[in-house]
Amino acid sequence: MVILSQNAGSDTKKSAGVVTDDFNYFVEQFDDIRVLKYNLPGFENLSLKQKEYIYYLSQAALAGRDILWDQNFRHNLLIRKTLEAIIESYSGNRETLEYKAFLIYAKKVFFANGIHHHYSSDKFNPGFSAASFANLINSSEKEKLPLAKGESSDQLINLLTPVIFDEKLFPRKVEQKAGTDMVSGSSSNFYEGVTQKEVEEFYAAKTSLNDPHPISLGLNSRVVKVKGKLTEEIYKSGGKYGKAIDNIIQWIEKAINSAETAKQKDELKILIEYYRTGDLKKWDEYNIAWAKNTDPMVDYINGFIENYEDPLGMKATWEAIVDYTDIEATKRSKIITANAQWFEDNSPIHPKYRKEKVKGVAARVINIAMLGGDCYPASPLGINLPNANWIRKEIGSKSVTLANITIAYDVASRGNGFLEEFAFDQSEVDRIKKYGSVSDALHTDLHECVGHASGKLAHGTDPNALKNYASPLEEARADLFALYYIMDLKIIELRLLPGEDAAKASYDAYLRNGLLTQIVRIKPGKDIEEAHMRNRSAICHWVFEKGKAGKVVEFVHRENKTFVKINDYKKLQILFGELLKEIQRVKSEGDFEAGKKLIEDYGVKIDARLHSEILERYAKLNLAPYTGFVNPYLTLKFDANGSIKDVCVEYTSDFLSQMIYYGKKYSFL
Ligand code: ZN
Repeated sequence: MVILSQNAGSDTKKSAGVVTDDFNYFVEQFDDIRVLKYNLPGFENLSLKQKEYIYYLSQAALAGRDILWDQNFRHNLLIRKTLEAIIESYSGNRETLEYKAFLIYAKKVFFANGIHHHYSSDKFNPGFSAASFANLINSSEKEKLPLAKGESSDQLINLLTPVIFDEKLFPRKVEQKAGTDMVSGSSSNFYEGVTQKEVEEFYAAKTSLNDPHPISLGLNSRVVKVKGKLTEEIYKSGGKYGKAIDNIIQWIEKAINSAETAKQKDELKILIEYYRTGDLKKWDEYNIAWAKNTDPMVDYINGFIENYEDPLGMKATWEAIVDYTDIEATKRSKIITANAQWFEDNSPIHPKYRKEKVKGVAARVINIAMLGGDCYPASPLGINLPNANWIRKEIGSKSVTLANITIAYDVASRGNGFLEEFAFDQSEVDRIKKYGSVSDALHTDLHECVGHASGKLAHGTDPNALKNYASPLEEARADLFALYYIMDLKIIELRLLPGEDAAKASYDAYLRNGLLTQIVRIKPGKDIEEAHMRNRSAICHWVFEKGKAGKVVEFVHRENKTFVKINDYKKLQILFGELLKEIQRVKSEGDFEAGKKLIEDYGVKIDARLHSEILERYAKLNLAPYTGFVNPYLTLKFDANGSIKDVCVEYTSDFLSQMIYYGKKYSFL
């Protein structure tokens, strides 16, 4: 599971550790995208062995890049190689409007790892003509183009032109509209020539309902039809994506030699076995080993993990990160986990739904050293793995918050005018500037380490009873847990916040986002669809309505602009507690109708007048609602004897060059 960035304007990102203000985070902005770079604080203080370990794992994190491109859409690699060839060798005028439009399109494709938007899933409108696309190809070096033996440039043009330019072809990466065939309607490359019904029957026949330790069925394969029968092409060495996987394995083998502990070495060996065999039992065995390794200084994620891009929620995209612990900030999450039982025992929910024994989640605050696959360039802010429910229950899970990524968001967003435009007054602006980072980091920790882990189901409640409302309700439950406690004296007692003003900053930011600014991501006339956004909208509109009589929160209008003003922070805390109690009841009892009503009444619809006002104010700021990152370059330094002396970090501010470089260095498919 991943936590994505909360608000497009991004004034309140969780961040921890050291903020180095003199680091220039900004790289560039195009279309709806802002590209930043991230800093590696404290990297130089790691031991040589740790640095080497990071280096080899980083190579393994980059080696699988092509896999994701192909998973996103089966023509993506061919398109990318064509774009690369044009950028490198086009001999025509590069100052024309058409070429500039082409370059923006190319950057959007690089950013999305394919021709569909990474968030909305819609195919990009190229912004230049098919005729100029043909001209670009014809004026580029033929040897650089991805032509098959004997293939002409014209054949390439004829193949790609409809794929890129025909709006009706492959319009959506993931199609989840109920009542349609989501498999044939989605362009992501997990299935070919099969219908949703066929796939569902295929996997239903393989499901064993009584297995207490079920494998993640279908996780690492593509389903195709061979001689009329459905068959899985397994992602493994010698199988689908074998060449890229072999390269990943090669780097993991090197990493094993510099691993710090026997535990890490063993765990990596199981990962290699899994990549060699594609055996999902091995994958579980590996995840157990990985989850048990709760306190590593250097850690990583590498594999087919999240299933957001598969409309049926089974197939996983390839992703990777490499990280190292932010020791100071991790102390904070350890304090929370150590007090997990206190939080549970004092929670405002009905006592019969409290857990007698809470197991907090093993949480670390980390700094990212490399992003790869589906974590690059758009990075999550927090990750909680493994995903298999039975492993989470029996072994536990590891949760990380990404400190240097959130600091980059935070610092790069300062002074962009967003906060000043939407905050109610100067004292709110000052509070956020002073405490926004620390209070938001604490919110995330409470949400992750204790919020999701709290509460229990009534005996006999079906865990799937809330269906499509389960995710927004679960996110609301964890958010409310955090919101309720952040204003509690216990937090100050534990020295997790410097004082009440910091807690106020958290409420200011949450309400402003949920009532006003998060809708900048939504097109006029559309509803809120995404689970985290529905959750925030539902919480904010519910407390607004329930507190209306007492004017706990109010809308204030000034010069035709709407602002949110909180009048009574303590009452607001009580309202958060009441809603937490109700949502816990809904979950514990599986009360689908009540859950549905909460989300539909408060979380989905947007007031049209307010929406257009907010969009207009946001447009004037000229900000990009989506953010991603370039990676640093890590290189080995050798001494006179050829032994590794150090690992150097070099930062870059050139997004396009990194894309071209990766295309050359990590192209295996
Ligand atoms: Zn969550």
